[in-house]
Amino acid sequence: MLRLQLLILGLAALVGWLALAAPSPAQAQGGGALTIFFLNVGQADAALLDAPDGSVALLDAGDAPSGQDLLRFLGDRAVARIDWWLPSHPHADHVGGFTAVLNAGVPVVHALLPSPQYNTPTLMRQLGMLFSSGVDVQNAAAGQTLTLDRAGQVTAEVLNPPEPPETNDVNENSVVLLVNFGQTYFLFGGDIGTRTEANVVARQLANVGTWPPIDVLKVPHHGSAGSSSQPFLNVIRPRWAVVSVGARNSYGHPTVAALDRLTSVGAEILRTDQLGTIVTTSDGTTVTVEIAPYIHLGVPQPP
Ligand SMILES: [Zn+2]
Repeated sequence: MLRLQLLILGLAALVGWLALAAPSPAQAQGGGALTIFFLNVGQADAALLDAPDGSVALLDAGDAPSGQDLLRFLGDRAVARIDWWLPSHPHADHVGGFTAVLNAGVPVVHALLPSPQYNTPTLMRQLGMLFSSGVDVQNAAAGQTLTLDRAGQVTAEVLNPPEPPETNDVNENSVVLLVNFGQTYFLFGGDIGTRTEANVVARQLANVGTWPPIDVLKVPHHGSAGSSSQPFLNVIRPRWAVVSVGARNSYGHPTVAALDRLTSVGAEILRTDQLGTIVTTSDGTTVTVEIAPYIHLGVPQPP
């Protein structure tokens, strides 16, 4: 009886292994997968992009208390180099954690910074370290297209801010990135509000004439009521909406109004305060979502 059970277990393991080993259509063409981790950093934003060829981009880095955990996470994933540092805007909840990365001497190749700059002591110290270590520092302006990996499979189109910027507001000047791999698209909205959402949509429609289907939206401004406007969502219609928020945060994020609007266009909402770190993987055709509550960075959240 025991032998039969072992045989069945062995067969099940073999079938499981074969299922795991079977390449997806994109992988069969030698593509591999793109993985984006929306890290659970409390009331802040941080995402790590891991391209099929191993190139790495960091899109925001959480706040300062998350820095050491972010570093540990990079170490766990054997990230030896950040190919692109892509802060959306210089507020502490988006760039604070990057100081620990720089202090640890993790090499950074390129940095695309929001413009105009916003001078905080943290940002000035980071800029000093970036420039002194020979990082290729560029200013973000709508219309640029970055190639994030050496294989040229993953690109990021800069959709905001325009050059010259239309406002001095730091949130509204967030760098908005449209990341593309194969037929899949990820939109990173920084902390933009209604007015910039409208401008981003209008510019893209004027320039390209259409919007690609958005698989994953990093919901602008942590789901505040002044973002995720209906006209914006009606155009981009994301399949998944990732909201990066701290449990019981003092801002009341995400707001019911923003969540209702996201739901009204059919988006499935994924909240870091409820689910923890959210891992999205694209094989170039389809995006799949996995929850990784064990990856938590920064200050422990209240239960
Ligand atoms: Zn923010």
